[in-house]
Amino acid sequence: MLIDYQYGPVTVYKAARTLFKKPLYYTHFYSLGDLLIDCGPSQIGGEVLPVVKKKAFQKLAVTHEHEDHCGNCSLIKEELKIPVYAHPETLSYMANPPSIQLYRHLMWGAQPPVEGKPAPQNIRAGEFSVKVIHTPGHSTGHISFFEPENRFLFCGDLYLGEKLNGFMDGENIADHLQSLEKVIALQPAVIFCGLKGKLEDATNRLKRKRETWWELSCQAIEMHEKGYSRNEILQKFFSGEVYFFYLSERNWGRGYMLDSILENIDFFKK
Ligand SMILES: [Zn+2]
Repeated sequence: MLIDYQYGPVTVYKAARTLFKKPLYYTHFYSLGDLLIDCGPSQIGGEVLPVVKKKAFQKLAVTHEHEDHCGNCSLIKEELKIPVYAHPETLSYMANPPSIQLYRHLMWGAQPPVEGKPAPQNIRAGEFSVKVIHTPGHSTGHISFFEPENRFLFCGDLYLGEKLNGFMDGENIADHLQSLEKVIALQPAVIFCGLKGKLEDATNRLKRKRETWWELSCQAIEMHEKGYSRNEILQKFFSGEVYFFYLSERNWGRGYMLDSILENIDFFKK
């Protein structure tokens, strides 16, 4: 399933694999001028290609390496003959993608390898220009794109919601929080999120997310310092581990967020 609609100068693409005509999980990608930002999962590449071929895109920029964001990079690069820009760490992953868990194959599909170029500091997007902001946390090479005239922030998987309390294996909460600070300072008006789509009142949303995570982290650290175990803290503040932890072959779970909090105690105390 691929739905597209216009929000001012931005085209919003809302994509999902369907099962019995029901969407499994929405992911969003966007375009501004001749710039395509992320490109959706390979499972729906057959729907994405004809839609993007109708527009004269000159470049594709990718927020990070997860297959729901960059699964069609190889296809689009080949068909449209345009460069693919990303952070150098994302590029090395995309050139040689590691194997992924079964649920990721089913939901989004694997990403074919693709060679890209390091994203410059600014990327032209038709009559607009976007600043490239390094926003690690969700992944080390995660970048966001800020359009200052409209104060649009294309932020991949940096936001995802205000009360999210789980991580993929490898996410880092200290990096996440510093990235949130960085984008809050830009005072964006609209977030273009990989999961939730277009969201107004952006700065306040980002601030609330930062505050929720700070509060949760400080409570978890306080309990840890009183001698409670990892499992006791997980039960108290995260309602225990989710079944999806096992379904995802231990790729996503609440324990990863707690572990990252406890590994970054110094960050929260400085
Ligand atoms: Zn992601």
